[in-house]
Amino acid sequence: MIPHTHPTSGWIEVVCGSMFSGKTEELLRRVKRVHYAKQQVQVFKPVTDNRYDANDVVAHDGVKIEGIALDQPHHMLYLLHQNTKVVGIDEIHFFDENIVPVVQSLADRGIRVICAGLDQNYQGRPFGPMPTLLSLAEYVTKLHAICEKCGAPGTRTQKTGGSEQEVEVGEKDMYQARCRACHHSGIDQLENARQAEFPLQILPFFQVNIVDKREEN
Ligand SMILES: [Zn+2]
Repeated sequence: MIPHTHPTSGWIEVVCGSMFSGKTEELLRRVKRVHYAKQQVQVFKPVTDNRYDANDVVAHDGVKIEGIALDQPHHMLYLLHQNTKVVGIDEIHFFDENIVPVVQSLADRGIRVICAGLDQNYQGRPFGPMPTLLSLAEYVTKLHAICEKCGAPGTRTQKTGGSEQEVEVGEKDMYQARCRACHHSGIDQLENARQAEFPLQILPFFQVNIVDKREEN
C-alpha cells in the first residue's frame, strides 16, 4: 500500500470478498496496528450481525475487539470521540445506502475509515452499498476464500440452507465459499429437494430441431 502523506486528509479503505475470506480478521489486524500506535480507534457494526457477540467485533478465529452495534449509520457521527483518528466498520454490506454519506463525511473530516464487507450476496449480485463504497474508496483489498468444492480461489458465497432472504445471518451451517464455476444462485438444500422430486431421468426431454430456412426456399 502506498503511504498516505497528506497530514490532515482522511481516506476510505474497503476490504471485501466472500464469506470465510478473512475480511474481519484483516479489519482487526489493521485496527490492532492502529491501537499499538496509540491512535484513537473506534469500531462499529450493524445490529443485524448478531453472531458471536452483540457488541464486539469477532472474527471466525475468535479474535475480538470492542465495537458498537448500530441500526442507523448516522449514529456513528454522534458517537464519534473527538480524538478518533481511525474508524473500523465491520459487515458494512448490512447497512443501507445511508452508510455512504456517513463514510464520506468521516473521511472528509480527516479520519481513516476501514470498511469490511461482502461484495456479493449469495446469488452473486453486488451487495447493498458495496458497489458505491468500492468506487469511492482510495484503497480496495479483495480477499479470496477457498472453494469448498474444488479448492480454487473462492470469490462467491454459496447458500447451502435457510431461506431465500438476502439477509440471513448464518455460519458454516448455511454458507460455503465457492469459486465461480462451483457457485449457483440458488440454495443447495432447495436444489437437492427439487432434484429429488424431479430426478434427471424422468425430466421431459425437449428436442430442438434446427431447420435451415434457405433449403426450404
Ligand atoms: Zn470450485
